[in-house]
Amino acid sequence: MSIKKLSSKELIIRGKWILTMSDQGDIKDGAIHISKGKIKNVSLYSDLKQKLPELEIVGDGSGIVIPGLINAHTHFSEALIPGMGSEMTLFEWGREIVTPVSENLNLETAREGTILKVIEMLHSGVTYVNDMFVHSNPNIMASLGVVDGLNHVGIRGCVSYGAEDCTDGVTSMNSLKVDNILEEHQELESSVSENDFLDFRLGIGTLLGQTDRLTKDSIKLCKNNGWKVHTHMLEAREEIVHSVLRWGCRPLQHAQKIG
Ligand SMILES: [Zn+2]
Repeated sequence: MSIKKLSSKELIIRGKWILTMSDQGDIKDGAIHISKGKIKNVSLYSDLKQKLPELEIVGDGSGIVIPGLINAHTHFSEALIPGMGSEMTLFEWGREIVTPVSENLNLETAREGTILKVIEMLHSGVTYVNDMFVHSNPNIMASLGVVDGLNHVGIRGCVSYGAEDCTDGVTSMNSLKVDNILEEHQELESSVSENDFLDFRLGIGTLLGQTDRLTKDSIKLCKNNGWKVHTHMLEAREEIVHSVLRWGCRPLQHAQKIG
């Protein structure tokens, strides 16, 4: 049963243990009453079964039911290359693996990779995923494929395009146009604005991976639309060195300065 179908039904989920975040703590031989996608009651299975005898029951009472986990940061743009270059340093891996791949990502690889990874996530209890799709294919708005993939499975999530336009050979060899990047942010936002399951953030791959013009225009777009940002604030040694050389301060200090 898909998540969307499941969330539109009225049913009882039964477990040996129900782990809650409330004062009720962990409930042995418990159950959850769900109606129209909302939790209506969490109690002992015997109580709920007595009150609602006609409802469908999911689970045989032997499992552990936990609140959905949140994956706070992932890259579906790397969904089809797991484990590749695991012996490399971060910067080598970026240059040798991620960059060449990111130049060739398209709607299909974005969609299929998203579906594959979301299935893995669901198996480990993740029910909300915050993605930053990083690509530098100048010919296509590949990040829109993520929305297709998330919609196909029906998981909740947040999408962003982790844009970078510096042709420094680390993040990308392609020279992406600022206007095209801004347009992709807008298209991505439009594609989820009416979707109850999906949110949007404006992605900034890294500050160092962007030209100052792109960062400035991205901040303006966020302020005009009330958008929030999804970015990396790593402050690894290489990042600090490059940041001090370029702006005379660390990345976080620079982020504060530019708003
Ligand atoms: Zn990341």
